[in-house]
Amino acid sequence: METIFSKILAREIPAEIVYEDEFTLAFKDIAPQAPVHVVVIPKAYVESVLSLTESDIELAGRVLFACGEVARILSVEKSGMRVVFNSGADGGQTVPHLHAHVLGGRPLAWPPG
Ligand code: 5GP
Repeated sequence: METIFSKILAREIPAEIVYEDEFTLAFKDIAPQAPVHVVVIPKAYVESVLSLTESDIELAGRVLFACGEVARILSVEKSGMRVVFNSGADGGQTVPHLHAHVLGGRPLAWPPG
């Protein structure tokens, strides 16, 4: 499935990469909603949390692990951060490639609007 994120993965369009490992890529969001706003994606294609199967459990764990690494790299591990997976239309998902938003660097309101 070709999306803006597959193009970032393929280095066809630039992104400010924060973290990468064998399974995941993390890059700064182009429209940051907080001082720290990083998108973490699996390299393998999955549309969203809603389409995860049991065979994707390691992939999902790798994405979460990468979120923690991003928090440490950007020094919000002490102040805290939020991980959000927008999923499907009502969840506000606009790019159909599973991704976590790592948000931090300021207090975040709850609940979301
Ligand atoms: P969603 O709305 O699907 O949860 O999140 C998609 C995110 O991708 C949005 O926060 C949006 O700003 C970000 N985004 C969209 N296009 C690009 C792009 O070309 N580069 C980067 N770095 N982020 C993008």
